Amino acid sequence: MIRARMRKGFLVIISAPSGAGKSSVCRALRAQDRSLRYSVSCSTRKPRPGEKDGVHYHFLGRDEFRRRALRGDFLEWAEVHGNFYGTPRGFIEAQAKAGRVILLDIDVQGAETIARRRKGDVTVFILPPSWTALERRLRLRRDTNDSIRTRLSNARGELKAAPRYDYWVVND
Ligand code: 5GP
Repeated sequence: MIRARMRKGFLVIISAPSGAGKSSVCRALRAQDRSLRYSVSCSTRKPRPGEKDGVHYHFLGRDEFRRRALRGDFLEWAEVHGNFYGTPRGFIEAQAKAGRVILLDIDVQGAETIARRRKGDVTVFILPPSWTALERRLRLRRDTNDSIRTRLSNARGELKAAPRYDYWVVND
């Protein structure tokens, strides 16, 4: 019984406003610990230059995303910056059962949904060193001006969720 409990996997949920450097932190963690499993989300957003289907996201059309959401394929899903994102339930359940630590890069709504449904996971909020740094990082990515504006205005709301996380990390 104790051994079974010890072997049970758990999630490390990382959230941050866009541009805080969450993807780089996740990449560094995965490079340091090869036993970590990364949850590749489904998204209706268009791929950015260099992004690969099945690696960065499973890129789906809105109809297919809706079908999967209705079928209960997602552990959680949310609309973020005008697009839909969802965490594939099957992958999480299989990896947790196998005793793996699973890394999730999801937004504050998704983190809250999962916290309501599961116990024993770890949540981490990544903060940018300053507002100016956040804006600069967003401009360095090849997002559209509209997307940058939406992401900056959403960042204010996202930062309000930070106190509910287990750990805070300033990514400077
Ligand atoms: P981006 O479009 O910049 O890749 O991601 C936008 C936001 O969606 C980020 O905050 C990212 O963490 C979040 N996100 C990515 N995958 C998921 C997911 O499966 N569920 C939820 N709720 N948010 C996600």
